[in-house]
Amino acid sequence: MSIHTPSGVVPFERACEIVGQYCIRIAPGPPEPVSLLQALGRVLAEPIVADRDFPPFPRVTRDGFALRAEDVRTVPATLRVAGIVKAGSTYSGTVVRGEAVEIMTGASVPDGADAVVMVEYTSRDADQVVVQRTCTKGENIVPAGRESRAGQEMLSRGSRLGFAQVAVAAAVGRTAVQVYKKPRVAILSTGDEIVDAAQSPGPFQIRNSNSYSLAAQVIAAGGEPEVLPIAPDDEPALHGLIQRGLTADMLLLSGGVSMGKFDLVEKVLASSGAEFFFTGAQIQPGRPVVFGQATPSGGRSPVPFFGLPGNPISTMVTFDLFARQVLAALCGATPARLPTVKARLTREIKTKTGLTRFLPSILQGGLLDAEVEVVPWQGSGDLMASARANCYVVVPPDCELLPAGELVSVLLR
Ligand code: AMP
Ligand code: MG
Repeated sequence: MSIHTPSGVVPFERACEIVGQYCIRIAPGPPEPVSLLQALGRVLAEPIVADRDFPPFPRVTRDGFALRAEDVRTVPATLRVAGIVKAGSTYSGTVVRGEAVEIMTGASVPDGADAVVMVEYTSRDADQVVVQRTCTKGENIVPAGRESRAGQEMLSRGSRLGFAQVAVAAAVGRTAVQVYKKPRVAILSTGDEIVDAAQSPGPFQIRNSNSYSLAAQVIAAGGEPEVLPIAPDDEPALHGLIQRGLTADMLLLSGGVSMGKFDLVEKVLASSGAEFFFTGAQIQPGRPVVFGQATPSGGRSPVPFFGLPGNPISTMVTFDLFARQVLAALCGATPARLPTVKARLTREIKTKTGLTRFLPSILQGGLLDAEVEVVPWQGSGDLMASARANCYVVVPPDCELLPAGELVSVLLR
């Protein structure tokens, strides 16, 4: 049995660094083939390569007339309309001096033409067109191969497939792709007072919402949640369930990591030979968060775990800040920064210094003038406040006052 070596309570940035360094060492699961739409949200286990030039031909980007730029150097200029080309076909002849070819967006530029004038700048009379604007060479044409070349990597291994990436894969003919297998994430809520959400709670009991929020966060982040039965605050029972949890690729515990007499998670993990990377972070909510790894019985390689504080907002925030990164690495994703934006604070915030704070907030306002307002909340147990929020205002640890009107950092979720 190895020793419990807590590296203690660390500042937020240090906790992020520790998690980041751990993530670099993670090997994702095996690849599996899935159909393209099934791959949405999954992580590529292979690069996606262009099968042809993009565009494959000099592509016209406007409806109008293909012509020779030098023929419209002085305007208005009258040209003879020699033909028409729609997208999907080409003009069989060559555009010669004094000629134009009526052309549609997405068509290939005819030989001889070197520019396209938008239809809006022309007037048509039978087989003649009067062009009112001059054109520069190449105007409204994307040359073949300008966006990418055949054989070029369009998406790298480790990219997460959003809708734009799905579109790229479709554009190069990949209707099935190799993605990494979804990591299995065991979720273990602890606490004598916690009862299953389907049960009717006694007067002092609390329904288990954390297993649900965590499972939802795991699914959204590309993992496969495995919700374990609720662990009582009892060492042998907790030990057994932790061992079960360690058969997954990652274990998330909720509750039992604070300073209370019945907060047994760290103790039981330590007695199971866990290695701790930090046993708290200088954040609020979520200060007691624990990160480490433990070797499951049977000697498989160590499994990362997080002991997340049981207060519902703490559980959610600490998942977002730390566990999500490890899960992303298990999914095979290239590490990414936390998604933050700046927004103007509508109401001042007063806090105490010492902790990096993540305050449930509402981000709204115009496209170019985002505003953010902290939702009123009764502390990190206030689950209902979290449901009203769509982000967190980040308050640095040295800050006592953020005045209204200040541009503040906002963590999206
Ligand atoms: P703990 O971290 O175990 O000290 O729990 C902190 C607070 O979170 C207590 O008020 C618990 O009742 C509550 N809590 C713990 N686990 C859960 C859970 N799974 N679902 C909802 N609330 C919880
Ligand atoms: Mg508890």
